[in-house]
Amino acid sequence: MKPPKLIHHGAHEGVTGSCHQLWMDDTYSLLIDCGQFQGVDEGLGGEDPLGLDFSIEGIKALVVTHVHIDHVGRIPNLLAAGFEGPILCSQPSARLLPIVLEDAFRLSISRDQEQLERYLKVVEQRIIALPYDHWFTLHQTDAVECKLRLQPAGHVLGSAYVELEFGGADATSPRVVFSGDLGAPHSPILPDLTPPERADLLILESTYGDRRHEDRAHRRERLQAAIERALADEGTVLIPSFSIGRTQELLYELEEILHEKIEAAGADAKPGKPAKEGAVDIDWPQIPIILDSPLAGRFTKTYKELQGFWDEDAQHRLDEGRKPLSFKQLITVDSHDEHMRIVDHLTETARPAIVIAGNGMCSGGRILNYLKAMLGDPRHNVVFVGYQGQGTPGRDIQTHGPEGGFVMLDGCRIDIRAGIDSVGGYSAHADQADLVGFVTRMKEWPKAIRLIHGEDQAKQRLAEVLEARYREAGKEGDVSIP
Ligand SMILES: [Zn+2]
Repeated sequence: MKPPKLIHHGAHEGVTGSCHQLWMDDTYSLLIDCGQFQGVDEGLGGEDPLGLDFSIEGIKALVVTHVHIDHVGRIPNLLAAGFEGPILCSQPSARLLPIVLEDAFRLSISRDQEQLERYLKVVEQRIIALPYDHWFTLHQTDAVECKLRLQPAGHVLGSAYVELEFGGADATSPRVVFSGDLGAPHSPILPDLTPPERADLLILESTYGDRRHEDRAHRRERLQAAIERALADEGTVLIPSFSIGRTQELLYELEEILHEKIEAAGADAKPGKPAKEGAVDIDWPQIPIILDSPLAGRFTKTYKELQGFWDEDAQHRLDEGRKPLSFKQLITVDSHDEHMRIVDHLTETARPAIVIAGNGMCSGGRILNYLKAMLGDPRHNVVFVGYQGQGTPGRDIQTHGPEGGFVMLDGCRIDIRAGIDSVGGYSAHADQADLVGFVTRMKEWPKAIRLIHGEDQAKQRLAEVLEARYREAGKEGDVSIP
């Protein structure tokens, strides 16, 4: 059997707009993801970052690897173009996807409630939730049979890599695997991924193909130290965060810090007594933790409802009666009025508090009001826990803040006097070693690998490392960059 035809409609020249079309026979194909181009990649898919520059004829189904916008953002346009097939995804993704699409619809298409509800109804009718680790037949004719299986990818809740197996009369069951975005080990809440047994063709992401992550096993301790440094001069600690994945991980780790502090205080038989740690003396059990993002609030609520998909450590906390995503000190802010009241209150009083707000790179969202009000005051602090893209306000604050520079927010120049800190080890992506491990931990290494979803340098470097591994192991494999 000849290798199935494959065309990349995104994420082959950059890291966003993921969309790949794989033909099951001469007529019928399926799409893996239908993401939006973002940031520097806008324009790769034509004038309109949401535009579809391909025909939908013969596309039988859309498979969604996970619900990040660069993997699902063009679904509205796919539907508008007349796509009538099902949207296949994991069970958790089936719950999270409508929330993501609702937000995207409001932001980029229309705020009309009736139109939105009509659209969401269509989306929900199309979504088919597939359990992990089960084969499903997608397409069957006399000549060919195509089956699909989803496996946890450890990236965000619901993330999956996709295995496709081609059978039929003249087939030797070749297997094609799409990695989607792969997660890194030691991610809270999510079980670590297990690589596939085999692949004839692997379509592999390469976001961090040229990098190794900072140590992840002790990042919680580093987060705690950064927050304690920040709180030492009172004031608010602002943590800009993306609403899906990162926010829930942060809450989970903050709950752990609080749990330890309260246990330690209990051991002293003086509840509420601040625990002494080094030179910093922070009254953790009294600090409000404010989640100021309605979208992150919705995701967090859904994450809680999907407890059955949490990892062992998270299950263990639940068994102990703990509430990792809804602990006592957590305050969720919903309305805009309430949001503005909290911004004003914390700005004036500089009362110690931890605020998590979106978006993660400070290019929009409620974090902006906090930054505009607080960046000029040395009592406040910003702690970054994620990558800040080039050209984003987050990157400017991170770079120029520590030397007393300024940032432009909403057209205003804001001088930075607040403390700025960054904690590494929070990426939701596999690094070079994890990506190589995804390949070399397979029982049968892929015969061919195509690298996508990475900057040129990342793809080049990953290709070199993979080729070297194949050579060392005396195995045959073709690594290419489309
Ligand atoms: Zn992703």
